[in-house]
This record gives sequence, structure tokens and C-alpha cells, in this order.
Amino acid sequence: MIRFEEVRKSFGGTKALDGLDLVVPEGAFAVLLGGSGAGKSTALRTVNRLVEPDAGRVLLRGRDVASEPAPALRRRIGYVIQGIGLFPHWSVARNIGAVPRLLGWEERRIAARVEELLALLRLDPAAYRDRMPAELSGGQAQRVGVARALAANPDILLMDEPFGALDAITRQALQAEMARLHAATGKTILLVTHDVEEALSLATRLAVMADGRLLQEGAPRELLDAP
Ligand code: ADP
Ligand code: ADP
Repeated sequence: MIRFEEVRKSFGGTKALDGLDLVVPEGAFAVLLGGSGAGKSTALRTVNRLVEPDAGRVLLRGRDVASEPAPALRRRIGYVIQGIGLFPHWSVARNIGAVPRLLGWEERRIAARVEELLALLRLDPAAYRDRMPAELSGGQAQRVGVARALAANPDILLMDEPFGALDAITRQALQAEMARLHAATGKTILLVTHDVEEALSLATRLAVMADGRLLQEGAPRELLDAP
């Protein structure tokens, strides 16, 4: 479903990706785990073309991501980062509806989708649709970020250290919600983290990176039980 083929990317003298080969199966909750500077974020960002590889290619459902204009590609890919960057002057509903509106959905359909996503992320629609981002807790804002990323029903969801800035209790609650959401939607998710516990609690497939390359990949249990 997502295939990285010998992907290379340098920034000046730094090899962020040094021949990354990885396959993320359709429907997986895949976690890229590795220390700081391993190349995880760079790898993720080659999928939605925020980073263009120097060599190699990234295929999404068999198609080279470079063959499609980046804006069209990005509408098919949900992207959640730490601190998500909700538009501060837009309500929760307007933030979540941003991509569907860009795609020209009818207002009624957008409103229904917003309600559905708020419920899916366990935010009472009546209480939250009209709130402004500054009126949300960190955990709630992150949920809205996930809802926004899912709004136009993307093929995949990319998440870059999405819970890194949250306190431990909120983080655990959101991890549980992501696992539930994955089970409910069957969506392919690729999440980047340096947190081993988080990786083990979420991953159906675990890929360990170091120095811009894949070290190990497999079901988390297999990797743990490996000698
Ligand atoms: P990780 O997400 O595993 O922490 P990154 O992919 O962010 O790793 O970074 C890998 C390496 O590439 C690091 O050494 C980082 O400093 C460097 N790097 C990443 N993005 C840039 C950039 N835009 N400009 C310069 N160096 C970068
Ligand atoms: P979480 O555990 O989800 O991060 P918090 O403990 O931070 O939640 O917040 C608890 C409650 O306080 C939440 O229901 C949230 O709606 C409310 N809240 C937090 N910050 C604000 C704010 N700036 N304005 C209005 N309500 C807020």
C-alpha cells in the first residue's frame, strides 16, 4: 500500500534517508520507531511530498507519489503533527470542514461529516462544534486535528509524534482512541514516534529506523521475541 524503494534524502551533508526500503500493508497501523534524527519525519514527509527524495521513490497503492500534483495528493492523505496547527480564528467545525469545503462538498454534507467525526473522536458535537481552538484542552485540540485529517476520508493517515506534547494521562487516552479508530475505520495509519511504549501499544506493524535506514520490520511481538 505504501512502498518506500531505496529512498535517499540529504540535507547539506546530513543523510536523513540513506536507502530506505519499507512496505506498509493496506489497513495496517504501522509505527516508525527510532531515536531522534533517525529520519522518521523525513520518511513520513516523502509520502505527502513535503520532502522530495534525491533518489528512490515512494509508491501509494502502486502509484509513484511524484506522478500526481502535490495538492491533489495531499487531499488524499491525512496529516497530523504535534501541536496540529488548527486555524486559530476558525471554529472547530470550520477547521474540520476545511478540506471537504476545498473539495466543493455541499454545506449540508460537510455539517453532517463534522458531526460524525466529532462523535467518532468522542467530542460532544453540540458542545464543541462552535468552540474556538483556544477554548480546547491540548487533548481536545489533538482530537480535532485527527478529525480534520480524516474529514475528506483520505486513503491514509500520517501522524508525526502526534501525542508528544501531551501529559501522560491524555496521551494514554488518545492512544486508546487511535487504536479504536483504526479498528473502526480500517484506515492505513503510519505513525512516527521515538516512544517504545507508544509503538508497542499501537503498532500492528513495527518498523525500527536508525541512520536513515530500516533496521527491523515486523509484527511487534516477533520483534520483541527475536533473539
Ligand atoms: P527523526 O524524525 O527521526 O527525528 P528527521 O527525519 O527529522 O529525524 O531528521 C533526520 C536528519 O535530517 C536529522 O539529522 C535532521 O537534523 C536532518 N534534517 C531533517 N530535516 C531537515 C531540514 N529541513 N534541513 C536540514 N536538516 C534536516
Ligand atoms: P484533557 O484531559 O482532554 O487535555 P483538560 O484537563 O486540559 O482536558 O481540560 C478539562 C476541561 O476543561 C475540558 O473539558 C475542556 O473543555 C476545558 N477547557 C480546557 N481549556 C479550556 C479553555 N481555554 N476554555 C474553555 N474550556 C477549557
